[in-house]
Amino acid sequence: MIKSKFAVIGLGRFGGKIARQLARRGAEVVAIDDNEDKVESLKEDVAMAITMDATDIRALRSFKIDEMDAVVVAIGENFEALVLTVVNLLELKIKRIIARSGSAHQKMILEKLGIKETLSPEEEVGILVAERLIHPSVKTFLQLPDGYEIAEIIAPEGVLNKTIKDIDFETKYNLTLITVKRLFEMDKKGHIEKERHLLGVVLPTTMIYDNDEIIIMGKEIDIERFIEMNK
Ligand code: ATP
Repeated sequence: MIKSKFAVIGLGRFGGKIARQLARRGAEVVAIDDNEDKVESLKEDVAMAITMDATDIRALRSFKIDEMDAVVVAIGENFEALVLTVVNLLELKIKRIIARSGSAHQKMILEKLGIKETLSPEEEVGILVAERLIHPSVKTFLQLPDGYEIAEIIAPEGVLNKTIKDIDFETKYNLTLITVKRLFEMDKKGHIEKERHLLGVVLPTTMIYDNDEIIIMGKEIDIERFIEMNK
């Protein structure tokens, strides 16, 4: 299988995490930062780590950034450097550019430049924290278009010890159950450890038990209704 090649520019906590995770998942990663210490700290984890000012188009060109499948620009504070880097990447005809935006205005500017994919870690974490405070049973969630979301929630009281068929997610709640995460006791070289695992494809006869987490898809309002009705 051909390895995907990605470059990550800006190795703060966010960019560093993206670079490490991509490498861990088997991609060939080029990590770039103009701060030598940041580059040094990632050197062991990625295919190539380069100290470079990404606003310098000649420097970018010199290591063939145009051969990357995608380039993530994770520069945070210095928006001017982020914009200049993005303009360079557009000039170099990079196939896929994913840029970090710190505010709605920055997102708008990036979109006007022609960047279709933007990431806002602060905004995404902010939404997640607010959601968790309002609904403590929501573990994680992913916003989808048109008011839909995928939420991972602790199975509420009202659905415990029932089959998926009896709960009737579709008709009763307007939700789709994707799968269930269950706590299993695993024998780890003599001592028992508890681990969560997905059940994978669930059947109408699958039961929901105490401590299960369920992953559901639907409109935000229907997920809230489901939690409220069954708590
Ligand atoms: P994070 O918010 O991800 O933790 P941070 O707060 O450490 O990041 P930021 O200012 O947000 O730092 O920038 C992220 C990284 O981008 C830094 O490591 C910084 O050195 C790098 N960076 C900034 N300007 C450039 C540039 N012109 N070329 C390459 N890297 C840059």
